[in-house]
Amino acid sequence: MSDFRFCPQCATPLVAREALEDGGPKTRLRCPACGYTHWNNPTPVLAAIVELDGKVLLARNAAWAQRMFALITGFMEAGETPEEGICREVAEETGLVVERLALVGVHDFQRMNQLIVTYHAVCRGEVRLSPELAEYRLFDPAQVRCWRAGTGLALADWLRSRGITPQFLDDLPARDIQSAPHKDLDHER
Ligand SMILES: [Zn+2]
Repeated sequence: MSDFRFCPQCATPLVAREALEDGGPKTRLRCPACGYTHWNNPTPVLAAIVELDGKVLLARNAAWAQRMFALITGFMEAGETPEEGICREVAEETGLVVERLALVGVHDFQRMNQLIVTYHAVCRGEVRLSPELAEYRLFDPAQVRCWRAGTGLALADWLRSRGITPQFLDDLPARDIQSAPHKDLDHER
């Protein structure tokens, strides 16, 4: 459930209230004053499996305690296509230029109420990390390990498409499964 408390239109406290929708009666946070409904739809997140010189670039967020490396991710913005958005994120976060882009897949990430659209981005250039990323590493594709959620599932699909059987990290505590949207941590929102 969302932690929204007030109506964004009129600032009245929201209440959980049942109403008849197309799919039948449904309880959601609604505004008793102006009728606003907080739909709480998943947020689209863009992710890139960045390939540089045949290796996969994974980066570690500066805010993460664990030494976990993840795909490049970011929120889709208003007024851009997903393809434009992921090229922008790759440029902002790594300084690299995307030369070729191919859709890997679309995965839910329900823990964060996100929908993740993942691309394979063949890139060129010199890596210059944004301050929010602490470090990066280049891995042989067969070397990477995937978590079983969000971008990890996308990475596994991509590995399979290249004839590589994905290996999963299953022994980590749930709180460390940073299935990438590094903005999970809210410091940018
Ligand atoms: Zn309202």
